[in-house]
Amino acid sequence: MDLALFQRSVDQQLIRHRSVLDLFTKLQESQARLQRAVAKAATQCGCIEVNAHKQAFPSDGTLQDAARLVETHVTGTLCEHCRETVETEMGQHAFYLAGLAQVLGLELEAVFQQEQRRMDLLGPYGLR
Ligand SMILES: [Zn+2]
Repeated sequence: MDLALFQRSVDQQLIRHRSVLDLFTKLQESQARLQRAVAKAATQCGCIEVNAHKQAFPSDGTLQDAARLVETHVTGTLCEHCRETVETEMGQHAFYLAGLAQVLGLELEAVFQQEQRRMDLLGPYGLR
């Protein structure tokens, strides 16, 4: 995937919501739609289930041990329909993120590379 090409395509297609203020609201809206698509996979389709509860972090052991024990609270797998919907909404979110990068004069590829370097440097100590 060529992120620079993606950003150039977004730049060419981003016309109506080119204002940074419009981009803020479109980013929020697309994030809400993405989360809604995941929620509907659980509540309307049922292909996934969400069973959230308090995480049990071990008081001893390594970070790798902790990473194995921490749960996503998601069971099941997105069905074809839900997967397609979630991917579409995620793509829309990526579109507006690239648009925000573009209007601020940032390169999405450089942002991703910087984040990769940060993860490589901090490893598991960059706990998130
Ligand atoms: Zn489904």
